[in-house]
Amino acid sequence: MLVDTHAHLQWASFDKDREKVISRARKAGVEHIVNIGFDLEGSRKAVELAEKYNGLYATVGIHPHNANQLNQNVLDELRKLSENPKVVAIGEIGLDYYRNFSPRESQKKAFEYQLFLAEELKLPVVIHNREAQTDSLKILSKFERKMEGIMHCFSGNIEMAEWCVKSNFFISFAGPVTFPNSHELRRIAKWTDLNKILLETDSPWLAPQNKRGKRNEPAFLLFIAKKIAEIKGIFVDELAEATTENAREVFQLP
Ligand SMILES: [Zn+2]
Ligand SMILES: [Zn+2]
Repeated sequence: MLVDTHAHLQWASFDKDREKVISRARKAGVEHIVNIGFDLEGSRKAVELAEKYNGLYATVGIHPHNANQLNQNVLDELRKLSENPKVVAIGEIGLDYYRNFSPRESQKKAFEYQLFLAEELKLPVVIHNREAQTDSLKILSKFERKMEGIMHCFSGNIEMAEWCVKSNFFISFAGPVTFPNSHELRRIAKWTDLNKILLETDSPWLAPQNKRGKRNEPAFLLFIAKKIAEIKGIFVDELAEATTENAREVFQLP
């Protein structure tokens, strides 16, 4: 059994065949899928899906790309949505200095406001960090002692991995760990203790190497699991068991 800790099945590219995608995931052993909010509408849809399907959960939050959208009303809406028992975290939130779709100052503000929200609600956080490691860690360090979370689609260096290990943060690996050039990422996967690892697809993006260029879906999580098991020299069952336990712990899944 596997848990896809980060997918976006609410995305329009799944509108035509969402049911089939979910049943393929189940057949592939992916029994739980956490759909991650990226804006208010996406958060609402993630919650709707979680209400509709067994094994689906949701997070609510405003992605750094959409940081400009965050205001008091939106924060209140996120707070309301989080009352649903299937909302398991605040996210994805963070900083993205690669695309810079929102100005950096508003990204930082949105990040901090949502960290305060997570603290208030006692929910873990799903962090998106791209080429913003220094600022991400600076902001997170103010909260780390009272917070649990996930560094999703990990792309940082060993220092960031060490920070995750000493804080209550899990390191989540996605499709890039299967890409030929991802030597550093595989080194970090090998180094990271099993009890700190999570698996995710980030569907519909970042399909693993053998599906590269295609729409990604939770059923492809097995390719990522196989790669990490290979890197660590363990059986995929052992990796599945450990990462499922980690996902249960952080999201408090049944
Ligand atoms: Zn992300
Ligand atoms: Zn995502």
